[in-house]
Amino acid sequence: MRMKLSALGRMARRFPRAHLAISAALALTVVIMALAPESGESHPERTRTLELPKPAPAVATSQPQPEPGHAVTAAEPVPKQPERDWVELEVKSGDTLSTLLQAHGVTAAQVHRLVTGDDKLAELARLRPGDHLNISVDDQGELTALSYHPSRVQTVKAILQDDGQWRVESETRQYQRRTRFAEATIDNSLFLAGHAAGMSDNLTMQLANIFGWDIDFVLDIRNGDRFRVLYEELYLDGEKVGEGNILAAEFWNQGRHLTAYRFQTRSGDTDYFDSQGRSMRKAFIRTPVAFSRISSRFNLGRKHPILNKVRAHRGIDYAAPSGTPIKAAGNGKVIFAGVKGGYGNVLILKHGQRYSTLYAHMRSFAKGMRVGSRVTQGQTIGYVGMSGLATGPHLHYEFRVDGVHRNPQTVELPKAEGVNSNEKPQFLVQTKRMDAQMTLFAEAATLASSNVF
Ligand SMILES: [Zn+2]
Repeated sequence: MRMKLSALGRMARRFPRAHLAISAALALTVVIMALAPESGESHPERTRTLELPKPAPAVATSQPQPEPGHAVTAAEPVPKQPERDWVELEVKSGDTLSTLLQAHGVTAAQVHRLVTGDDKLAELARLRPGDHLNISVDDQGELTALSYHPSRVQTVKAILQDDGQWRVESETRQYQRRTRFAEATIDNSLFLAGHAAGMSDNLTMQLANIFGWDIDFVLDIRNGDRFRVLYEELYLDGEKVGEGNILAAEFWNQGRHLTAYRFQTRSGDTDYFDSQGRSMRKAFIRTPVAFSRISSRFNLGRKHPILNKVRAHRGIDYAAPSGTPIKAAGNGKVIFAGVKGGYGNVLILKHGQRYSTLYAHMRSFAKGMRVGSRVTQGQTIGYVGMSGLATGPHLHYEFRVDGVHRNPQTVELPKAEGVNSNEKPQFLVQTKRMDAQMTLFAEAATLASSNVF
């Protein structure tokens, strides 16, 4: 029994006080680090970003880069190659690979052999001013090695082999990722609040996209709405080079509280889900009236039955008895409810940023259907009728993507699958961890703003 005790456990038994002191010191360190103000940046009082000490090392850290001049390291057993002298070239406006290399005695034929030798070298033809190349040329003016960076994280190295072939190696460094936190209360616009919290427009856009199905960021935002975001910043060699993804976000909108978590499924897809693992993206139901039949299909060259002239039919007609309930195809918001010429009583719903649906010839609207009303998928929004130009009771239904009419029968509807049940435990572990991080950040921010120092 005693043999099975861990070293720490034994120590705790022998030195209970020391153990406590160590725990307390560790806890204090975490708190102090969490409260440490960010260097060199100040934020308005209601908004701030903080960096949390990472509880564990980052998932990915940058790989050490072999230095030019040590193309083959001593650790590599074979093949042994001579040390080479590297020359660094900077691409200037008007330079091409040929002109650059020929200025160092490399022949046009060699340049051609190089760029056609390997797919990874094709990028060389697209050098841009400011790019850097490292080359090695031997006494006979023959190019024997070359390395360059197609992107900030990528290094491609080509070495001429004895058989005249190029051996090409490509290496991609991993960004260091740091978790950051931002929170803001909206006074004016989402983007201004994002700016004040130190977020880029790109990040704010990510936030708007995540909640875009539930919140209309043009019409729904009210003063006093607020948000919290946990996101990644990307670093290379200690220098911030950009922002990564939002990991988790909370939004308080007109009294509603929404939460979203980023999660990568085993199939490799990454998406945002609510705390229950439901997709933040909402799917549509294909047919908004039950017990109906299609009486007219989507047809851009149809002859109109009443007007008797060619007039595109940009929707589908579902014939159904007058009074049949019409359902909202997806969660959304009423952006039009009224009479529209030959369409009679029309309701238009907006779903997120890209989609809208239109329901025409209604006998009447369901109770509460006004511009701005929020509807949930499947909710009754009105009743089949024949208002406007119609030969019989039916629903004329249109589906638009980015403002363009699409065939509601065939349009590819956005998937909104939730987290798979067998991945749910892992999802819950991750969301719990993100919640804890968010809480710690938020508490640290509150303490920092209450002038405890
Ligand atoms: Zn129609």
